Order: sequence, then C-alpha cells, then structure tokens
Amino acid sequence: MNIAPNRLGQPAASQEAILDALFHPTGVDGVYGRSGAYEAVVEGLGALITQARDPRAEIVRFPPVVSRALIEKSGYLKSFPHLLGCVCALGGDDAAIGAAVDRFDSGGTWTDGLQASDLVLAPAACYPVYPLAARRGAIARDGLIFDVASDCFRREPSRDLDRLQSFRMREFVFIGAPDAATAFRDDWKARAGDFVDALGLTSRVDPASDPFFGRGGAMVGRFQVEQALKFELMIPVRSAEQPTACMSFNCHRDHFGETWGLKSADGATAHTACVAFGMDRLAAALFAAHGVDSARWPASVRRTLSL
Ligand code: ATP
Ligand code: ZN
Ligand code: MG
Repeated sequence: MNIAPNRLGQPAASQEAILDALFHPTGVDGVYGRSGAYEAVVEGLGALITQARDPRAEIVRFPPVVSRALIEKSGYLKSFPHLLGCVCALGGDDAAIGAAVDRFDSGGTWTDGLQASDLVLAPAACYPVYPLAARRGAIARDGLIFDVASDCFRREPSRDLDRLQSFRMREFVFIGAPDAATAFRDDWKARAGDFVDALGLTSRVDPASDPFFGRGGAMVGRFQVEQALKFELMIPVRSAEQPTACMSFNCHRDHFGETWGLKSADGATAHTACVAFGMDRLAAALFAAHGVDSARWPASVRRTLSL
C-alpha cells in the first residue's frame, strides 16, 4: 500500500548514471536517443496503462505535429507561448529556396528564409481530441472517454533527465457532465498511488499549477491551486527532496467545451478532464529507484512490466 506521505525513497541511481547507461546524446539538451533496455520499460508501462483503461475508452494515437490553428484556438498562446515549438519550412519559389541554400553553402545563414507553416509540435497529447469529439455532435449522457498519446515537444531545454524537450505522453480524457468530469479526475488521483506502488515506487500527490506565461501568469496559477484544478503524482527521479511530477490530474472545467462547442443533448456545455502519464518520467523514476540494470530489478516489478 501507499507509504506515508512525504516518505519518499532516495534514488538508487543518479541521473548521470541513468543518462550514461540508457540514453544517447544528440548534442541538444533534453533530446536523446533511447536504448532497448529503456524502451522495454516504456513498453511495459504502456501495457500496464492499457490494463488500467476504462473498457469504454476510444483509442486515438496522434502524430507529433498538430494544426497550428487548433493550438491557437485552444488558447495555448495565451497560457504557454514560451513552450511552443513551431514547424517552419523554406518558403517562396525555387529561386528563393535556392538562394537560402546558397547562403548556407557560402557560410551564411539559411534560416532567415524560413516561413511558419500550418503546423506546430504537439505540446500535449489531448488537444486534438476535443475538436474530434465536437465534430460528432452531442456528447452521450454518460460522457466520453478517450485514450490518447503522442510524442510531445516543449521548449524547455535542460540537462535534467526529467525535463526533456521531446518526450512521450499518454492520457485518458473525459468529456461530459461537470460532476462526472471531476469524479473521473478524482478517481485517477486516488488510484495512481497504488498504480505506481505495484512498480515499487514511492509517491505522493501534490496540488499543482501550470507555468502560465507572463506577469498575469502567476495569478492564474494561484487560481488553479485555489480551485483545486490540477494535481500531480510526485515520484523521486533526481532526489527524494525534490520529487518529479510523473503524472498529472487535470480539470479544465468548461474551457475546451466552450472553445469547441462540446455540448450534451440538452445543450449544456460539457466539462473536460484529463489524466496524463509522463512515459519518460515514469521510466526514469523506475531506473532511479531500482538501478540502471533492469535485469536486476525486483522480480515483482519485472513481472508487472513483463520484462
Ligand atoms: P512540470 O511542472 O514538471 O513542468 P507540467 O505541469 O508541465 O510538469 P503537464 O503539463 O501536466 O506537466 O504534462 C503531463 C505530464 O507530462 C507531466 O506530469 C510529466 O510527467 C510529463 N512532462 C511534462 N513536461 C515534461 C518534460 N519537459 N519532460 C518530460 N516529461 C514531461
Ligand atoms: Zn490533457
Ligand atoms: Mg511543465
């Protein structure tokens, strides 16, 4: 069962040891090639999450790029413009593209020829699911549940193993009545400790806020905590004193419902909630807790992950 709050275990392996043993540097902070041993753990985690999925859930896998218009309409620029990565491409006619390449060949810069495209990099897995659901019309009385995943990008370069620029996110998303959305979020918040217990991990749940941009951002963050909209499952990756948010439990209230016109049959705006599994942070937490050699992990943990 869950250990007492705040009694988190110290990592057995340092992040330097984990990076050395399981990741391949690419020359860019927070962007790594991953080894087979690491990916086996990510796959085991994925299967475990699938086992915990509501049988009603509809599965959708999204690519790592999202329509720019969709992210603009979602309000992302207001909240997190500092984290967004945009896809740019050389624009103009062949002459303009050729000129950019020539500039590069002669030691100059070619990137001033770039133009924004209609794509951005996915900052979270759940954004595209709301318009997808809205296109189908009224939300069923019991609500909808989705199982979504994508590679995500956030422009937050760091040498820390638990803050990548490119990482994997899996989410369960609920769309429906306000009470049911809160209940969905709270149910997962209550279950998550046991879920990671089975992996031999120590954890606690903390109230949380998102890193909203700008001067008004801190106020929005305080409101989020006051209204108990976001919680995180904290697990030691770098240290027990500063544990890492490996899962988050989020209520968006009517934000996406209003944005996309998600409505029940009686015309009420739907509320939404999502539970996010940070696949790379969960995997890192496992290597931190049990050591860099997964062959020597406790038998029960290996069994749970089908290693
Ligand atoms: P943090 O406060 O640590 O930046 P967050 O609030 O930005 O986390 P969410 O937006 O809730 O995180 O994202 C869902 C999950 O995705 C997180 O709980 C975490 O496990 C994972 N995640 C978020 N950002 C990163 C990152 N830079 N590197 C690796 N995993 C991440
Ligand atoms: Zn989400
Ligand atoms: Mg963040």
